[in-house]
Amino acid sequence: MPDFKNGKIIVFSGAGISAESGIATFRDSDGLWAKHDPNTICNYRNWESNYELVHSFYNKRRKELESKLPNPAHKLIKRLEDEFGIINITQNIDNLFEKAGCKNVVHLHGELTSLRCIRCECIIEIGYKAYDFSPCPKCGAERLKPNVVFFYENAPKYAELYTIFNNICDDDIVLVIGTSGEVVNICYLLNKGYKILNNLEKCPSIDENIFDSVYYRNASVALPLIYEEIKRLKG
Ligand code: NAD
Repeated sequence: MPDFKNGKIIVFSGAGISAESGIATFRDSDGLWAKHDPNTICNYRNWESNYELVHSFYNKRRKELESKLPNPAHKLIKRLEDEFGIINITQNIDNLFEKAGCKNVVHLHGELTSLRCIRCECIIEIGYKAYDFSPCPKCGAERLKPNVVFFYENAPKYAELYTIFNNICDDDIVLVIGTSGEVVNICYLLNKGYKILNNLEKCPSIDENIFDSVYYRNASVALPLIYEEIKRLKG
């Protein structure tokens, strides 16, 4: 019998957890990709030739983020963190977990509130401001990139993702929430542990059959139920 009481809780999230806070997902029908071409604003191979457009897109996302608030789902993840401790890995570039008070969030795909110099690799915190095209404060490079992992770009935090998932054991609980699995096919990494899924609907890249428990509903509605389920498992 698994000993969930002493196991870890791993939370892996995507854009869906922030949808009810008013941040658009990418792939849903009214998502950002329906209005913007990802090959222009999120492509490491050509971002420098679309420099102003790329920054204009992320400047807008950053400005929008300022007024966004964590929703009940982020807050319940924070409650799980306080009560049991969690490993919190997100694909999201927003800071709603941090606004909810979560600590040590692993942002697999970077963060909207910073820029990165691709010459000296320094990270420049910019908060909610628009980038004014000033050079790197450390090495003077003229061009800075949003600190967001683009298509075809190396994602250094994936090493951490693999380590965390390779170390999951039968006593652990894994919560997958708000992700289509199109960018990170999380199902390939799920092996041991008690697995819980929350999305709005079935997705081709997520095999619901490997999960012990599945919730197809808004995260703010699912999370109170998931919280109770985890509490029961934890005894
Ligand atoms: P996705 O857009 O591919 O899929 C969104 C998933 O969330 C879908 O499976 C959908 O069913 C589910 N969903 C939508 N609304 C939901 C709700 N209210 N409650 C529960 N589930 C809901 O998202 P993805 O898999 O995270 O991949 C997209 C990539 O885009 C990621 O790399 C992510 O970094 C990035 N992204 C981030 C943000 C953000 O930071 N908030 C927003 C858009 C995209």
